[in-house]
Amino acid sequence: MKAIILLGAPGAGKGTLAEGVKNATAFIHVSTGDMLRAAIKAGSPTGLEAKAFMEKGELVPDEVILRIVGERLAQGRPDDQYMFDGFPRTLEQARRLDDVLAGLGGAVNQVFLLEVPTPVIVSRLSGRRICKGCGAVYHVTNIPSKVEGICDQCGGALYQRPDDSEATVLNRLEVYQRQTASLIDFYERKGVLVRVNAGTNPQAATAELLSKLA
Ligand code: AMP
Repeated sequence: MKAIILLGAPGAGKGTLAEGVKNATAFIHVSTGDMLRAAIKAGSPTGLEAKAFMEKGELVPDEVILRIVGERLAQGRPDDQYMFDGFPRTLEQARRLDDVLAGLGGAVNQVFLLEVPTPVIVSRLSGRRICKGCGAVYHVTNIPSKVEGICDQCGGALYQRPDDSEATVLNRLEVYQRQTASLIDFYERKGVLVRVNAGTNPQAATAELLSKLA
């Protein structure tokens, strides 16, 4: 079992790059944020547990995250290739992921650190809009829809993720610095960290990542 990780602050473009990589490779995209949002939508116990943390921009407890990722990997096959997006976010999650992958005969092969200047991140997140219908991602100035508030692809209504409001964005960046940034050092020591300039545009960042994929 092969695994790569997209690491970076909220708004670094993990989800967007994951789409590009998924389309060009055999990697299975696993986004813990998407899994949690789906759980909230479905009203499942996991969703109820996660909701309050997510709305505040805090991390959902490790046990919840490790349980949903564990369940997802348990459904997989030995030759699957996984691309984790938004996971791991704490050292505990990173260590436990190593254990789970080792148990399945795999390891973290590469960790792509998406580097973006902080002001760019704040503007990206506070301007982000998402289609209620198909999940397509827009930005009020960088990627506007043709008709304001309406998705170009499916005509669905665009909304702002509750945790993309400016106050919550600042908290999420603080949480990233406090709880997730130490993973850079963790993976650098293991010799698997690969830096990608994600501050320009998604096409360039995706191309750079694909060119560095081992
Ligand atoms: P994301 O879509 O990756 O930005 O995640 C949105 C929110 O879901 C985060 O702000 C956290 O509250 C929660 N979340 C997603 N992934 C994790 C994780 N690996 N560990 C803890 N919380 C997470």
